[in-house]
Amino acid sequence: MGLVERLDFTPRPKQESQRQAYQEKKSHKKWADIDRYLVDVLVPSDPALESALQSSEAAGLPLHSVSPNQGKFLMLLAKTVGARSILEIGTLGGYSTIWLARALAPGGKVTTLEANPRHAKVALVNIACAGVADRVDLRLGSALDTLPTLEDEAPYDFIFIDADRVNIPNYFKWALKLARQGSLIVVDNVIRHGAIINQDDSTSQSIRQFFNLAATERRVSVTAMQTVGIKGHDGFAIAHVEA
Ligand code: SAH
Ligand code: MG
Repeated sequence: MGLVERLDFTPRPKQESQRQAYQEKKSHKKWADIDRYLVDVLVPSDPALESALQSSEAAGLPLHSVSPNQGKFLMLLAKTVGARSILEIGTLGGYSTIWLARALAPGGKVTTLEANPRHAKVALVNIACAGVADRVDLRLGSALDTLPTLEDEAPYDFIFIDADRVNIPNYFKWALKLARQGSLIVVDNVIRHGAIINQDDSTSQSIRQFFNLAATERRVSVTAMQTVGIKGHDGFAIAHVEA
């Protein structure tokens, strides 16, 4: 660029999209700050859960576990239905698994499904360190292969779907098969920063397909809630099995 062009250069007015991105960044920071405050006050520091997160990160696992207050929320939901038998699809490092194991009524069990052996290995250590190995049954393999083998162990009182998003409709159909009247089915990451309404990628399509399926399925009563906080903007769907 020559001197003349440089002197002529005037900054372009801020684009609307840039302004929006800035506002979004500000909101995200506020949500994350509030989340940290809530976790500080309401979710006491827990060495087993914290070390599960640390060892997952140290092993290079993706940072996709639920946040501490979401983990506690799952625990409270599972307790509310008096869950003795819990099914989780998508273990990762076992963070949510440990929360769910702590919700169990005496003698209860969490069955958790994981496809990635590296994730499963880290999870097994974390689950053992948390002192809940006797209550957790980790099944290694692609969930669509493992789910048919669980029919004998059904029904599950509480089912948490948190694996590959494109298979959410399939997992939901399996969850219905493996549930009983009164079971609760929770599906994580159904909002994905709003991608479900403004993107047409295969994951967004699958999530919309799941919503349509759940809305028209007579056996369940379903809703979904957006969440904001340290994990950004996302959300849960919750389905109660009525029949
Ligand atoms: N529930 C965990 C996070 C799970 S992340 C928590 O909140 O702590 C999603 C996990 O699903 C990853 O570990 C990924 O390996 C696993 N996954 C992806 N596809 C899968 C499949 N087809 N079957 C089973 N697990 C799968
Ligand atoms: Mg999730």
